[in-house]
Amino acid sequence: MEKRLDYERGLILLADSDNNQLTYRAGYGFTPEHEEILTKSPLPLDEHAPYGPILAAFFQQQPQHIADTEKIFTTLPPNSKMLVRELVIKSFLCCPIIFNNRSLGILAVDYANQEKQLIQSDINLLMGIAQVLGVRLHNATLLAEQVRQNQEILSLEKAHAVIAAEKEKSDRLAENLQEINDELKNFTYIVSHDLRAPLINIKGFSAELNTALEEIEAPLKKCREFLSDKETELLDIVLEEDIPEALEFINSSVTRMDGQINGILKLSRMGRRELLPEDVNLQEMVEAMIKTLAHQLDSHQAAVEIIGLPTIRADRISLEQIFGNLLDNGVKYLETGRPGKITVGCKQTDSEFIFSIKDNGQGIAEQDIEKIFAIFRRAGRQDTKGEGLGLASVKTLVRKLDGHIWCESTLGIGSTFFVALPRE
Ligand code: ADP
Repeated sequence: MEKRLDYERGLILLADSDNNQLTYRAGYGFTPEHEEILTKSPLPLDEHAPYGPILAAFFQQQPQHIADTEKIFTTLPPNSKMLVRELVIKSFLCCPIIFNNRSLGILAVDYANQEKQLIQSDINLLMGIAQVLGVRLHNATLLAEQVRQNQEILSLEKAHAVIAAEKEKSDRLAENLQEINDELKNFTYIVSHDLRAPLINIKGFSAELNTALEEIEAPLKKCREFLSDKETELLDIVLEEDIPEALEFINSSVTRMDGQINGILKLSRMGRRELLPEDVNLQEMVEAMIKTLAHQLDSHQAAVEIIGLPTIRADRISLEQIFGNLLDNGVKYLETGRPGKITVGCKQTDSEFIFSIKDNGQGIAEQDIEKIFAIFRRAGRQDTKGEGLGLASVKTLVRKLDGHIWCESTLGIGSTFFVALPRE
């Protein structure tokens, strides 16, 4: 336009995509200061507010020719007045850029020099250019949209490829994990099973040693008269103290180890047991458990409160073990010397039942809270009998039911065990 036409200045304003305002997009013949004013002064596209010739051309889709801005200056709205004044516009011509009956923008030209007058042929020429601009603009918008869509498809395809690769990776990992898990279960079972055989041997042979000891007692007695006092004393210490003590140690260690192997086997069997989901009324189940604990509760002057437990669909035996163990512990670790209080409750979220078993017992030190879920781990005062198996079994079972377990506790105040199980 600048090269081919003879106007001193020209500009293009375009409506934004929401048709909220007309903004300056291109122009020539303006000083940098003028360009800044034009850029910073978009015209709001409000048909109901007073508007000047530019918006008249846009809304009415008719060219507007102002031969002398001074004559209409007082009728202009403030923002048009500002533009006329700041850009020193004397006469100008603006044409709507239209496509498919829709106004897209404005093409305007002017002579800063009032000597030159715009005439009808200028209007015809500019309207022709505006029409071509309308088609080009439309095509450009279509093209931009196409490019945008292509980019979107490309980035979507990329994202899909990344997701597919990640999924493959995680599937492979899950498969590996499953294999390792199965191997571990078998390993635990086989090892603990096989460990029992030598243990039984040790137990058997230590019993045999005991019998042998008894059998040599009589012949040894006869030999004593040939021994010195010192030798007799040594024989007494070995036969009556050292050997029986060693055998005692062997026996108690064997018994302990046997218990532990049984524990591991029990846990391993628990992990391998097939689950049989059924509707379980937990209120009834926990009430029945409390009855069997009546004696222990009495000795701690303890009361139990059960707050609205639901019926859930899950494996009954697992639930019995979970709640049984947690209630047993709740009572077992109550503090002597203050009346016990145990509360069993349940909260429901969109996806889970969160059960809580709260007691006002001994509590657990912060550094022990995680440890107590490990097999054979015990914490705090060891003045109550236990094998350190209960919570490890509970954890295994909860995990098998796709749930999770955690504990909040304050030493000397009490503990709450939470069990979250999926609703579906
Ligand atoms: P056990 O009771 O045979 O020791 P558990 O696995 O059931 O084995 O518990 C592990 C340890 O966790 C217990 O030795 C005890 O220190 C602690 N514990 C469990 N439940 C409670 C509770 N309700 N209050 C305080 N300590 C608890």
